[in-house]
Amino acid sequence: GLPAAPPPVLGKRRVTRQLRVGAVGVGSDFPVSVQSMTTTVTADVNATLQQIAELTATGCDIVRVACPSQDDADALPQIARKSKIPVIADIHFQPKYVFAAIEAGCAAVRVNPGNIKKFDDKVKEIARAAKDHGTPIRIGVNAGSLDARLMAKHGKATPEALVESALWEAELFAEHDFHDLKISVKHNDPVVMVRAYELLAESCDYPLHLGVTEAGPAFQGTVKSSVAFGALLRQGIGDTIRVSLSAPPTEEVKVGTQILQSLNLRPRKLEIVSCPSCGRAQVDVYKLADQVTAGLEGMEVPLRVAVMGCVVNGPGEAREADLGVASGNGKGQIFVKGKVIKTVPESKIVETLIEEAMRLAEEAGPQ
Ligand code: SF4
Repeated sequence: GLPAAPPPVLGKRRVTRQLRVGAVGVGSDFPVSVQSMTTTVTADVNATLQQIAELTATGCDIVRVACPSQDDADALPQIARKSKIPVIADIHFQPKYVFAAIEAGCAAVRVNPGNIKKFDDKVKEIARAAKDHGTPIRIGVNAGSLDARLMAKHGKATPEALVESALWEAELFAEHDFHDLKISVKHNDPVVMVRAYELLAESCDYPLHLGVTEAGPAFQGTVKSSVAFGALLRQGIGDTIRVSLSAPPTEEVKVGTQILQSLNLRPRKLEIVSCPSCGRAQVDVYKLADQVTAGLEGMEVPLRVAVMGCVVNGPGEAREADLGVASGNGKGQIFVKGKVIKTVPESKIVETLIEEAMRLAEEAGPQ
């Protein structure tokens, strides 16, 4: 048959410098990557490595660990060595931990310039150490910890203030011929955040790490991050993303991955196309969709599975999918690649769909 058409894309990627965070390439030559951050005490090496393993299994590309104390800094070499994905040390306040993280073999270091006291004097040494070890640095500007000078100048954390802070810090490194930088300008308001990144994208060619900070609990945080990242990624802005949620970090990774898949920036894996249900539904669509989703969770094969509540729109939608069901009269018509392959009683719909999905996955071979 004909080769599959490439998936439609929303916008051309902004051209950036390229850098390597461990084995992960960051910049416009590479796919947008998903980050998250551990919630364990970093000094608890086993707990932290365990959480990193969970994040890795969920599809996290790069993980960040906080480093607020000497004990945490001491744990970094072991964590960096044993983690299967690149580890970024997240440093506030203390330049000495920046050096420790670079020495520890962390794949990158995130510094918050607004929080690193006497940062300016240390830039030269940090730049030299980072260059010697090939360690990129993320300049992470946060609305909540904006430099006092810029706060005074702009009155609050405006997009201009965030960008001025970031560019000023980047310039400090650039003066020492250090350019392996990635920048973020996070704000909790998606509108301010989007504007800040747009301005930043126009003003430099560093790769950008996207984040809506303190985005909130899972529901609100998911929506805020999705709209903000969508608005930016649509313009080709953004090279790594982190969805911040007041929820376990594996949830952040799932949401981040789903955002990238929704925008065709990463191949879609399992996609459940279920109808919203309406007065015509002859089956409990919500329950059926949940059961099918649970039964197929973790499938690595791209598969569109349609779950339709009735036979009005059902067959049409189900035909567009690899696999689907349209319910009616206590039965489910099971479609595979547009053809009804069987009709089963309602109680057998879920298991039949799972069986057929497994069969299709096997036919598709290893991904
Ligand atoms: Fe309603 Fe049927 Fe459409 Fe579901 S598929 S929303 S039940 S018309």
